[in-house]
Amino acid sequence: MHVRLNKPDYRSMSLLKFQRQFGSEKECWEWLLQTRWPEGFCCPRCGHSEYTLMEKRDLYLCRSCRYQASLTAGTIFHKTRTPLVKWFWLIYRMATSKTGVSIAEMQRELEVRDYRTMWVMAHKIRKARADRDAHYRLAGLIEVDESLFGPSSSGKVGRGAKRKSVVIVAVSTWLNSSGKEEPGFAHAFVAEDASADTIEAMLKRLTVPVNEVKPLITSLRSDGWKSYRKVTKKLGIIHYRAILSDPKDTMRLLPWTHRLIANAKAVVSGPHRGVSNKHLQRYLSEVCYRFKRPLWPDESFHRLLNACATTTTVTADQLMAPQTSAEQVQ
Ligand SMILES: [Zn+2]
Repeated sequence: MHVRLNKPDYRSMSLLKFQRQFGSEKECWEWLLQTRWPEGFCCPRCGHSEYTLMEKRDLYLCRSCRYQASLTAGTIFHKTRTPLVKWFWLIYRMATSKTGVSIAEMQRELEVRDYRTMWVMAHKIRKARADRDAHYRLAGLIEVDESLFGPSSSGKVGRGAKRKSVVIVAVSTWLNSSGKEEPGFAHAFVAEDASADTIEAMLKRLTVPVNEVKPLITSLRSDGWKSYRKVTKKLGIIHYRAILSDPKDTMRLLPWTHRLIANAKAVVSGPHRGVSNKHLQRYLSEVCYRFKRPLWPDESFHRLLNACATTTTVTADQLMAPQTSAEQVQ
């Protein structure tokens, strides 16, 4: 007999549908309740199903053991003072926008008085996305390239350049039913340099467990930079070297990393102009998240909403701390 699991609702969501379903605070809480306890309330401590709803809407008092279960614990909404309606609207905008949303614009739209509150909300959502993405691993053939981000950055202008951030990008690929190559999951990291050691550490972090790098990543495609040659030789991975005699060839020979880098540069110079190096990693994670979304064009809102309702929360202080690439791929 098949066991039917509760399948999250990933149907497409137009603006009108969104407003109909999440138009009031009550509806947003209802959604969260059904997502967290699909079979109805279940006490996390004793499993009892009867409760008393406390005055604060997110606290459920177990009638058997008196445990106070929080509906928002373990979600990014935990202890928020901002109405869920505003949160859900922000998630909707971030999930459906092609170019990313500006925090100042959202602050006006949602009538959130404090810029910092808005900033923390947006970054909690980004963090939820990144946590989700950390579950996806690259495998098979991956395409790797690196680029420089920073003041007047215009691409690859010498790997030793100062004051810019080296960003290494990796995109996994797969063959569709007609044998055509498609991009799969993507990752981008702010790195110290583009040395063989850095690249090796990155490849190892992309796959778990560490000692099984070989079976997971079988081959690597790059522009042939010596670090890639060194690493692939060391790890016994097949290395396809794209010979770039004309810069225009990048599009054709390293199509996915090239597109990912172009997307990231558009975001950093677009709505989020002036992204500091400190936060670059988080913006890159967002670009990576959107890069592979075309696999599920209509489902992005519900996927992101579910990620927000199932990821552990972070504090504003943790968000303000500089990100390292290690945090992204644990
Ligand atoms: Zn209980």
